[in-house]
Amino acid sequence: MKNENTLIPSKSVLGVMGSGQLGRMFAQKAKERGYTVKCYSPEENSPAAKAGVIETVGDYEDYPKLKSFLRSIDALTFEFENIPAKALYTIEEVSRETGLRVSPSVESIRISQNRFLEKEFFNRNGLKTTAYLYLNNLDGLYANQIKFPCILKTNQFGYDGKGQGKFQNFSELEFFLKSQKNVDHIIEDIVNFSCEISVVAARFSSGKILYYPPSENTHKNHILDFSIHPAGVSETIKKKAIEATQILLTALDYVGVLALEFFVSNEDVICNEFAPRPHNSGHFSMDAARISQFELQLLTLCNIELDIAKLEASPCVMKNIIGFDFSEKEKDYLEFLKKNDYRLHLYQKDQAKIGRKMGHWNYLGNKSYLDAFPE
Ligand code: AMP
Repeated sequence: MKNENTLIPSKSVLGVMGSGQLGRMFAQKAKERGYTVKCYSPEENSPAAKAGVIETVGDYEDYPKLKSFLRSIDALTFEFENIPAKALYTIEEVSRETGLRVSPSVESIRISQNRFLEKEFFNRNGLKTTAYLYLNNLDGLYANQIKFPCILKTNQFGYDGKGQGKFQNFSELEFFLKSQKNVDHIIEDIVNFSCEISVVAARFSSGKILYYPPSENTHKNHILDFSIHPAGVSETIKKKAIEATQILLTALDYVGVLALEFFVSNEDVICNEFAPRPHNSGHFSMDAARISQFELQLLTLCNIELDIAKLEASPCVMKNIIGFDFSEKEKDYLEFLKKNDYRLHLYQKDQAKIGRKMGHWNYLGNKSYLDAFPE
């Protein structure tokens, strides 16, 4: 990366690949600090644009448009990693030509968007994963002994459980894969986990790492439903998860914010995947921490290294609002809205859809999930 130690000052123009809620919350922080924010994505009238981000609506593969966007900004970050390979090359090319600061690196995005590369990278660096098998044609299915039940995932461009399924036996799996145009999948052994946790951390250009202690995540239909901070796991598990995150950040020579997700099993942590950006499980930090994950994204991007030894955060339960338009049920939540310890964040998405994240709550305090959000 060029301009490795250059400050990106407050009147600069920051670019974001993607324009969803994560771009929106990044921009809210950046705009508070005087930056102009532009985003690039195929979506019109996006959550980011509704927070005052200047939107370039373009296909990720519209190279002239993408190039002119990249030439109009002073630094680039990502709120979304599922960006086609050719667009990533374009970003590298423009960065080489103009010295555009790109954080995190394109290489980190490449690894994170490909489950096979990601798992190989974990293992090369001594980070445990579940057993997996990469399939790029049907031969691999016949040549290998597969343990059932198993989980099949698309190797690329899957998120929130999309492109993912559980298979009970060989014929089910074979039938499914034969119906696919391209076989680019990964098969995973199922992990019998006691819980899922994640660590959100930031690494600055100097190599300095700051992290929040792990959060504990509960999924419904493969989508994060709620997250408790800090996780109710042992100190040993916390330490192992934090160490794994530090190893990953250093091995990637990462600059920016990253979240590493784990399964906890038999007093050990097993890496599932990482997100090369702020993460849904780090939303507690918006209200329960002095420095939020979006501020960390801004500071790492702009080369402003925090002069603190650790990040401070208080207990929080984060609950996602998924699949319905909050305004239609607003009255049901009046009690929360009136209280001092509940914070609401809505993303201004045009339409609610099944599985679509529309916003989230942060409850600030020590209540259990069910006490904080009675069903
Ligand atoms: P992913 O898209 O890999 O984040 O998976 C979404 C969710 O599916 C995870 O958070 C787990 O709850 C579940 N899951 C994914 N992979 C496995 C696995 N190998 N074993 C057990 N559960 C899994």
